[in-house]
This record gives sequence, C-alpha cells and structure tokens, in this order.
Amino acid sequence: MKNKIVSILMAGLLGTMLIGCGEKTPVSEVQDTTEETIVSDETSASEVTEEAAEEAAATEEVAEDVQAVIDRGVLRVGVKNAVIGFGYEDPLTGDYSGLEIEIAKALAEKLGVDIEFTAVTAATRTELLDSGDIDCVLATFTITEERKQSWDFSTPYYTDYVSVLVEDASGITGLADLADKTVGVSSGSTSAKSLVSAMIEAGVISGDGFDADSFDPATWTEGVKFQQYDDYPTISTALSAGEVDAFCVDKSILAIYKTEGRSYIDAEFAPQEYGVATRKDSGMSAVAEELVTGLMEDGTIAGLITENGLD
Ligand code: GLU
Repeated sequence: MKNKIVSILMAGLLGTMLIGCGEKTPVSEVQDTTEETIVSDETSASEVTEEAAEEAAATEEVAEDVQAVIDRGVLRVGVKNAVIGFGYEDPLTGDYSGLEIEIAKALAEKLGVDIEFTAVTAATRTELLDSGDIDCVLATFTITEERKQSWDFSTPYYTDYVSVLVEDASGITGLADLADKTVGVSSGSTSAKSLVSAMIEAGVISGDGFDADSFDPATWTEGVKFQQYDDYPTISTALSAGEVDAFCVDKSILAIYKTEGRSYIDAEFAPQEYGVATRKDSGMSAVAEELVTGLMEDGTIAGLITENGLD
C-alpha cells in the first residue's frame, strides 16, 4: 500500500489529487519541497515520500474516490470488447487491446494500481459507472452536452463519425434510400438522433416534429423507424435476418460487422468525440483529465492512434 502511494508521489500525481479547500498544490511545489528535505535532512527519498503520503492522507487531501481506488489497488474500467482498435478482447487469450485499453492502462499506472476491465455496452456503461461497479468508462463514449449534465468527460482523445451498414442486396447506398426503412441502433446510443438529423439536413425527411432535446428513437416514425437492441452482435444478426434494413452506429464500431456482402452507405455524419467518463464532480475526473491532456500534449495518443490503425 505504501509502495503504491510512494510511486504515485514519484509520478507527480499529488498535484492533481490535492483538493483540500478547493485548492490544488502544483506538482512542482510538491516535488520542490521533497527535494529540499532530502538535501537538508539527509533523509532517503522513500522515507520523505512516505511521510508526505501519510501527511496527505491525514489531512484528507486526496479525493476520497481516488483514495478508494488506491486502497483497493485496482482501477476498474468499463471498456468495449468488440471494437477493434479501441477496446477488443481476444477470444482465445482474453487479452484486451486498443487505444482505449492503452489509455486505461496509463491511468492505472498513474495511480500506481492494477487494472481490471469490465466489458460494457452503450446500454450498461452508465449504470455500472453510477453504481460504482466501475471507476471510469473508456468505451467509445461520445461526449454530448446532455451527457455532461450527468457525468464528467475528459478532453476528447479521438473523433469518429456515424455511418450506416447495409446488406449489398438491399440496394441501399445513401441516406435517401433509408426513407421509410427500419434501422437497428443500440439503446443508450447517439446513433438514431444523429441519423435523423443527417436525413433532415440532407433533405430526405422534413424534420417536422423533430426536437433534439426530447427525441426518442422508440417513438420516432417520421420517414425512418428504429429498432433498439442491447448489443451490436444482435443488431448484426437482425440485419442478416432482414429484421432491420440497416445498422447505424459509429464507423469504428461497425468495422467488425462489415463482412462480405455488406457495405457502408455513402455518408458519414455527426462527429463523435470520445472522452473518459467519470462520476460527476469526482476526484477521478481531475485525474482522468490530467492524464488525457498530458498524453495528447506529449504525442502519446497520436502514436497510439497510428499503432492501432485508427488514422
Ligand atoms: N459512441 C456512440 C455513443 O456514445 C455510439 C454508441 C457506443 O459507443 O456504443 O452513443
């Protein structure tokens, strides 16, 4: 336990985690003080940092939720398990890989703890976060104004677009062909609203009765209809079975379902900015934000995007 705290201090995280009286102590300040003590007292680095850690804990400067993760020794992260390049679980080895997996690992490393992945869907990720079953979500989770009312999001680490996958035999090739069709979407996703907005913008449907704030895929029937599913494999099966005419979601997610005889329609719309989601006003929000901005600034995320074939 002490070792973990020590490594956190060494990593300079304390600056982020100090929240006493709403003030943050800059990282440089913490490090400077530590160095000074080493010189004047001839105390070993580990003793000094242990002392500092105990002091921080005693004065409750570490955000409670962050401390709970440190005490547990494990960061629990909600990730996708079938989105190649983002969050993908190898069915044979059980190993996870992808951009979001690497960012999550960096977050655990920053905290000096182990990591545990929980596979989530668009329908389950917020429940699991709210209940405390997971500490954060890195699961192609689009930042929206509406969602920001309920959860904190880090600076975006990737921008995707929504598209539509169809069976070639359907003859559907563009937004206009989707008029009066039934489209499969995931519950809890931005997809249906994005598609209706794009169809309105393209002049395919009138948009009468469309209100972005109250839009509900379950009741929308003007020019296109939606069938909602709990997960993507089920939508893919429904597409093969002809239960739906098209499958709409972010292009990154569609990729694994684009098998032979299927194509994307000729339209990409509604930019989807992905961020790390954490509970609102939690200590984890600040830690996640500092991590993502750091990894953006030092080029790590750009490198991971290339490594994972996402550019
Ligand atoms: N990224 C979209 C969203 O957050 C699609 C759903 C998903 O991520 O599974 O709503």
